[in-house]
Amino acid sequence: MSPASRDNAQRRVIVLGSTGSIGVNTLAVIDHLNRTAGAGFEVVDLAAGANEKLLCQQAMQHGVGHVALQRGTWTGNACGVVCHTGDDAALRLVEETESDLVVAAIVGTAGLRPTLRAIELGRDIALANKETLVAAGDVVMPAAQRHGVKLLPVDSEHAAIWQCLQSHGQRNAPNRLVVPGVHTDDVRRIVLTASGGAFRDTDAKTAYHATAEQALKHPTWDMGPKVTIDSATMMNKALELLEAHFLFGVPAEKLTALIHPQSVVHGLVEFADHSVLAQLAPPDMRTPIQAALAWPDRSAGCSRMLDWTKLSRLDFAPPQAEKYPAIPLAYRVMQAGGTSGALFNAANEAAVDAFLNRRVPFGRIVELVTEALDALPAGPADSLDAVLDADARARRFVEDRLATEPMTPTPV
Ligand code: MG
Repeated sequence: MSPASRDNAQRRVIVLGSTGSIGVNTLAVIDHLNRTAGAGFEVVDLAAGANEKLLCQQAMQHGVGHVALQRGTWTGNACGVVCHTGDDAALRLVEETESDLVVAAIVGTAGLRPTLRAIELGRDIALANKETLVAAGDVVMPAAQRHGVKLLPVDSEHAAIWQCLQSHGQRNAPNRLVVPGVHTDDVRRIVLTASGGAFRDTDAKTAYHATAEQALKHPTWDMGPKVTIDSATMMNKALELLEAHFLFGVPAEKLTALIHPQSVVHGLVEFADHSVLAQLAPPDMRTPIQAALAWPDRSAGCSRMLDWTKLSRLDFAPPQAEKYPAIPLAYRVMQAGGTSGALFNAANEAAVDAFLNRRVPFGRIVELVTEALDALPAGPADSLDAVLDADARARRFVEDRLATEPMTPTPV
């Protein structure tokens, strides 16, 4: 057994966002690794948004001591666990329970504060919450470095890039962060793939008036509603370009997104010598989750396997800016820096929320984000307060705009 496996045998894990798609898959992978690889992860605490029933089931199944429920009332005393409730519930779990690894899978800005606190407490992070880096990369990355914390990417594209960069990164910065940033001269380009989302084969004019039901039908991935809508607008890829910018320390001109409808190649790295490394796997989040949790080991997986006999082709195409205006916005935000990432992310969260609540048509989502970036000045992102202030300004802006344009989406 390698040293890392021995560490895993004693790893106490907090799962933030345990009832969402990533959280549920994380618990499945933990069970699998404990059962088949003798990993011995101990799930100590769980935090959820509002799904009290599933949280209670998970708490009993894993024998956890504490849970956190952000919204709603906890009636699950039958579970025999202590429950924190309210907006700071997940933060309190992180502060009050000793742990070795925190899985950051709360969607949106809500995940930022507990993730940053876990970093300050020196906990390693399995990072699924991309908004943490998009909004607060300037705060989070230096904090991770200061506290010697490993950031293990769970987002499938970043997990792919991370695996392609591993030998390279370890050579450059042994015994430091798992993702230390790369020698940018050695890397020509980092490519994130995108499925193209629900409207890949729909023209932009038709998609503009699409309803939530139509946008929630993702062609390849099974995910929560926020990420599925973000995939349809391609805002997900825009957020992921920003995530990669901070996580790997690469400039905008070395980051590219490509539409790849099969969702089999998750990320590619082109090196200076023109070699290209790619990571391939079926679209199944258990693969990147296991890669992060078991790192640096590789043991038998519990996800689906690629069937090479059925994989007859792999297609790639650049996303058209007219159809996917979110992608150029990502580069604009990277160039602007500071709190523009927080403005971008929060405006998107507010706009997606409005769309899911049938207040605006699909096409208004990226328009509202663009209007927020046009109207609101960005400043330095030198503290969590500065980030949260920008976040609040962007949400207010979108809310004010919505108040002036009540409308019902027209079905396609
Ligand atoms: Mg992703």
